[in-house]
Amino acid sequence: MTRERILVVEDDAIIGSELLKALSAGGYEAGLATSGAAALADVRAHPPDLILLDLGLPDMEGVELCRRLRAVLPQTVIVVLTARTEEFEVVVALDAGADDYLTKPFRLTELVARIRAHLRRRAIEPGDRVISVGRLRLDLPARRAHIDGTEVLLRPKEFDLLAALVTRAGEVVTREQLMDEVWDENWFGPTKTLDVHVSTLRRKLGSYGQITTLRGRGYRYERDAVVEA
Ligand code: CA
Repeated sequence: MTRERILVVEDDAIIGSELLKALSAGGYEAGLATSGAAALADVRAHPPDLILLDLGLPDMEGVELCRRLRAVLPQTVIVVLTARTEEFEVVVALDAGADDYLTKPFRLTELVARIRAHLRRRAIEPGDRVISVGRLRLDLPARRAHIDGTEVLLRPKEFDLLAALVTRAGEVVTREQLMDEVWDENWFGPTKTLDVHVSTLRRKLGSYGQITTLRGRGYRYERDAVVEA
């Protein structure tokens, strides 16, 4: 089995080398890029399975780099690393294509556990399940979504979230369940990641999306199309 590759984009030499050490110890092939330009060159040469992206880089706006990495790597998991003071930047980064974020300082064990969860979920699920609800067709093993035969391009976490809702169409799925299943079983932080992903899904699915918000409880993917009055 080939080892999964993780690219660390971090300009701080000490943090960078600690991350590399922890990732190698965790069984991953880890590479380091210390600037945005180096990161863009590296992913073209060796497409990674996951990117750890420090938002504070010397040569490029972190969010802009996130957007550019996402444009060339639609399937790679991107986790941004941010300082506690950069809360707003997190929302913008999630919108620019990041799947998740970690706030510095964090424990290396927590980081590796989070990475493991991301890569495990990204792996192809067993069985060949295809689910159709309304005009949406979800191919779970292929991780593809179609509406009336036209593919809707989804990022890894968007697909996982949609799959979590559609596999239980007609039922309420709580925020906690979604955070557990799609992000991390030990999640206890803020859940704006979830809201940003739901609104992106709604935008991508357009009027065929059938996600209903149950305020304070969770979301439900409707079995039948909702007819607007
Ligand atoms: Ca930095």
